[in-house]
Amino acid sequence: MIGLISATAAGAAARDRLAAAWPDRVRVYGGPVADAVRTAFAECDRLVCFLATGAVVRLVAPLLADKRTDPGVVAVDEAGRFAVALLGGHGGGANDLAREVAGVLGAEPVVTTATDAVGLPGLDTLGLPVEGAVAAVSRALLDGEPVALRAEVPWPLPPLPVAERGAYVIRVTDRVVEPGEREAVLRPPTLVAGVGASRNAPAEEILALVEGALREAGLSPASLAELATVDAKAEEPGIVAAAERLGVPLVTYPAGELARVEVPNPSEAPLAAVGTPSVAEAAALLRGGDLLVPKRKSAMATCAVVRRPGRGRLAVVGLGPGARDLLTPRAREELRRASVLVGLDQYVDQIRDLLRPGTRVLESGLGAEEERARTAVAQARLGHAVALIGSGDAGVYAMASPALAEASDDIDVVGVPGVTAALAAGAVLGAPLGHDHVSISLSDLHTPWEVIERRVRAAAEADLVVTFYNPRSRGRDWQLPKALAILAEHREPATPVGVVRNASRADESRLLTTLAALDPARVDMMTVVTVGNTATREIAGRMVTPRGYRWQEETAR
Ligand code: SAH
Repeated sequence: MIGLISATAAGAAARDRLAAAWPDRVRVYGGPVADAVRTAFAECDRLVCFLATGAVVRLVAPLLADKRTDPGVVAVDEAGRFAVALLGGHGGGANDLAREVAGVLGAEPVVTTATDAVGLPGLDTLGLPVEGAVAAVSRALLDGEPVALRAEVPWPLPPLPVAERGAYVIRVTDRVVEPGEREAVLRPPTLVAGVGASRNAPAEEILALVEGALREAGLSPASLAELATVDAKAEEPGIVAAAERLGVPLVTYPAGELARVEVPNPSEAPLAAVGTPSVAEAAALLRGGDLLVPKRKSAMATCAVVRRPGRGRLAVVGLGPGARDLLTPRAREELRRASVLVGLDQYVDQIRDLLRPGTRVLESGLGAEEERARTAVAQARLGHAVALIGSGDAGVYAMASPALAEASDDIDVVGVPGVTAALAAGAVLGAPLGHDHVSISLSDLHTPWEVIERRVRAAAEADLVVTFYNPRSRGRDWQLPKALAILAEHREPATPVGVVRNASRADESRLLTTLAALDPARVDMMTVVTVGNTATREIAGRMVTPRGYRWQEETAR
């Protein structure tokens, strides 16, 4: 819950705007402001105070206990111009909250934690538990001192500006280690504990068995990702409670699936009870990995521990048509999340300034599509966080398909949609896509012309609005006139045609003409051409395809 506190009428007005925007997330604390802050501080995980920063500092100072448990505090000036992350920037969520509040109020977020200010992820914001000399190593990263990365298990980390060797170390391990004075330890969630238990086995017993297994194998509970067991034990109170106490989810599998997993220590007892010769080992091993602790038993429970290989992550990211403000926030996040960026050099140039220091950029020139796709997938398979970028939408005549044709299920894939050229051009032209429409690429490099021609003909006959991608290049100049001629067999010479070059880029241009009047020389590879259907009209200099079915039938008649 987010507590809202204000003192004056102006502050209350800003507060109410936030409360109206987030009715389920906030609670308004009224009354004398010192009491309100004290109560909210105790009850909420985050606070927004519509007060001067000085007032907020004085009010919360006596309440501060521990940076790990104190709520994050954001101060907003009464005019609602700035949202200042005052306290608990990372752990308390104040940095994110300041940005969100700023978004709602139209304010400027003010974030002063060093790692954010220079675009570095704080070591405590990577989503992994972290131990050891976190502050010292973060500071070394910021100061540009050499920090070495020692990854004992592969994990798709975001980019970190690390060096081959250094006095400071970031260690990625699931083993229990005594971190050195200049060493921070990141705990990737690589371990799975398979558990079995008789009915009513006490939680303490299961917990002791799991913790003992980890301890004796020298493994850190902070790297435990989940408990796994058989479906029949999904509600077993001891197992449920043990998972809760360990702070990990409980994952269960059908007995039939577990029975198919090869295990070193099968036995008769679970076969009779739940229908699989192994619960603990099989549940731990089901999604693959190395068995580090074979089955061990206590009076009423069993446990086995597996290390799963770190799964790499491939984000296929559409950058939009060119303008920075048509790049989605999600795409921006993914660009900062990736430690390896793969793409065509001209697209990399489009977003280079958004990358975090330490991002490895693998760029290549035109062509070499398949090779780029293979590179991206291979990097993800090594356990890296990879972003494969494309202009517009990366799934439209672009890299997503060759990459996913190459990828197997041993990596995670995330798709980020982008504004494709047809949509960007549509917005420039007016509303040409208001009714059914298709995109057709006129590039016959990969597709035989007969296939393209058949599709153009079908679109012509079906009276679909058509957007041509890759319409014309120096070496390919007859395809566009041919395609337009096919459309002209079914549409009036006066049918509106929109030509948009470099949509949303600095040198954007548009031309609204007709099927009969279009000069193909106006068209090149930076252009899309949108041909209207029989109902499309030019209205006040804009291209409009009506939505109304009735209206369209009448005019078509
Ligand atoms: N994935 C891209 C399309 C790649 S095919 C997308 O979704 O937009 C390349 C073709 O897209 C170009 O030949 C051109 O026809 C079109 N195109 C891409 N960006 C464009 C832009 N900003 N303005 C006009 N056409 C564009």
